[in-house]
Amino acid sequence: MTARIIDGKAFAETLRGRVAQEVTRLKDGLGVTPGLAVVLVGDDPASHVYVRNKHKATVEAGMQSFEHRLAEDTTEQELMGLIDQLNADPEVHGILVQLPLPDHLDSDLVINAIDPSKDVDGFHISNVGLLGTGQKSMVPCTPLGCLLMLRDVHDSLSGLNAVVIGRSNIVGKPMAQLLLGESCTVTIAHSRTKDLAEVVRGADIVVAAVGRPKMVPGDWIKPGATVIDVGINRIDAPEKGLREDGTVKTRLVGDVDFDSCAEVAGAITPVPGGVGPMTIACLLANTVTACCRANGFPEPE
Ligand code: NDP
Repeated sequence: MTARIIDGKAFAETLRGRVAQEVTRLKDGLGVTPGLAVVLVGDDPASHVYVRNKHKATVEAGMQSFEHRLAEDTTEQELMGLIDQLNADPEVHGILVQLPLPDHLDSDLVINAIDPSKDVDGFHISNVGLLGTGQKSMVPCTPLGCLLMLRDVHDSLSGLNAVVIGRSNIVGKPMAQLLLGESCTVTIAHSRTKDLAEVVRGADIVVAAVGRPKMVPGDWIKPGATVIDVGINRIDAPEKGLREDGTVKTRLVGDVDFDSCAEVAGAITPVPGGVGPMTIACLLANTVTACCRANGFPEPE
C-alpha cells in the first residue's frame, strides 16, 4: 500500500474538541449555550440510530440538544407548526430535520420552512443559492467534512482537477460547489456519464458519492491522487460467519475499492472511519457558527 490513510475519526475528534472549547467560550464568556434541535418523524431504524448519535455528540460538546420524535402519521400541518416554534425559539440555534421523511410529507416544503440561519444541514434553498454564488452560507455537513480533509492533505487545491461522482443535492452538488470555490477544475459525473473510468483517470481529487459498493477500482485512479470515499454500503461478509438467527453477518464498505485504490492513490479515506465521523463533527461546528451569527459574536475559524 502506498497511500496515506486519511484518519477521519482522529480528524473528527480534533474538530469536536475545538467545538467543545468554543462552546465553553460562548457559555462562560458570553452566557449563551448553542442549541441544536433534531426532528425525527416515523420509525426508520437507521434514522433513529443517526438521531441518537447526533444527540450524544451534541451533549458531549456541551451544547443543548432538543429532540423531537414524532409519529409516522404526523401531518404536514403539525410538522410545520413545530418548525415555526423552533424557528422562534431563541435557545435553538440549529434545526435539523432527519431525512428521509415519510412519503406523505414533502421534504422540500419542510426544509424550506426552516429559518435559513438555523438550517445547519445547509439544505434550505437560500443556503443552496448562497453557496452556489460564493456567498456566506450554511454548508452541508458531509461535503464540508470532505473539504476540511482535502485542505489538510493539499497545501492548495487551486487548479487541481476534481471529479465528483454523484450529483445529489446533499453531497455531490454542494461538494462540487465547494471545490469550485477552491478554484479546482470540477467535473460532476453521474449515472449517464460516458466512460467514467477515463473521466476519473484525469482527476487529482476523486470524491465518490454514489451508493454502489466498491464501484471505483484502483486502475481508474491517477497515481498520487487523493480519494475521498463518501459511500456507505452494507454488504454480506460471509468471512465473518453467521448471526445467531442463521443470517450472514455484514460489513460496511465504501463506493471505492479501498485495497486496489490505496495501491495507487496518494491519500485515501477508509470506510468506516473516513468521511462518516466528520459529518457529525461538522454538524456541531455549524451549530456553533449559527449561534455566533445569531448573537453577533465572532465566528470560529
Ligand atoms: P443519491 O442516491 O442521492 O445519489 C447517488 C448519485 O450517484 C446520483 O447522482 C447518481 O446519478 C449517481 N450514480 C448512480 N449510479 C452511478 C453509476 N453507475 N455511475 C456514476 N454515477 C452513478 O446518494 P447520496 O448522494 O445521498 O449518497 C451517496 C452515498 O454516500 C451513499 O452511499 C450514502 O449512504 C453515502 N452518504 C454518506 C454520508 C456520510 O456521512 N458519510 C452522508 C450522506 C450520504 P444520477 O443522478 O444520474 O441518478
